[in-house]
Amino acid sequence: MAIKTLKKFFTGPAPRIPRNEAMKVFKRDHFQCQYCGLDGLYQFTNWMILTIDHVHPHARGGARRMDNLVTCCQPCNVIKGKRLFKSFEDAKQFVLKNRQEWYHLYEQQVKAHQHSGTVSH
Ligand SMILES: [Zn+2]
Repeated sequence: MAIKTLKKFFTGPAPRIPRNEAMKVFKRDHFQCQYCGLDGLYQFTNWMILTIDHVHPHARGGARRMDNLVTCCQPCNVIKGKRLFKSFEDAKQFVLKNRQEWYHLYEQQVKAHQHSGTVSH
């Protein structure tokens, strides 16, 4: 059960989909997350979080076809989850808005951390 959970989170560069199929999608999308634009070739860490997203979720009957598959970084994939959207553009807007919220939280924490650093010196 623990392994099953782990597999769910660690999808790596080729989640569930055979690697050669995933590579076709990655190449078509120039190894860039189709939601946030993360460049999978920029550095190895980026490469490691590239996944394949079913635009129409697989869990909701989305086909495993090139026209339903896009390159997607793991964070965007987690944000999107199994939600169903009218179009890819709707999905993208949802993901980007959500990322923006996470970014604000990140900024706040960076500031707070810097501030506490200054105080302790
Ligand atoms: Zn992304």
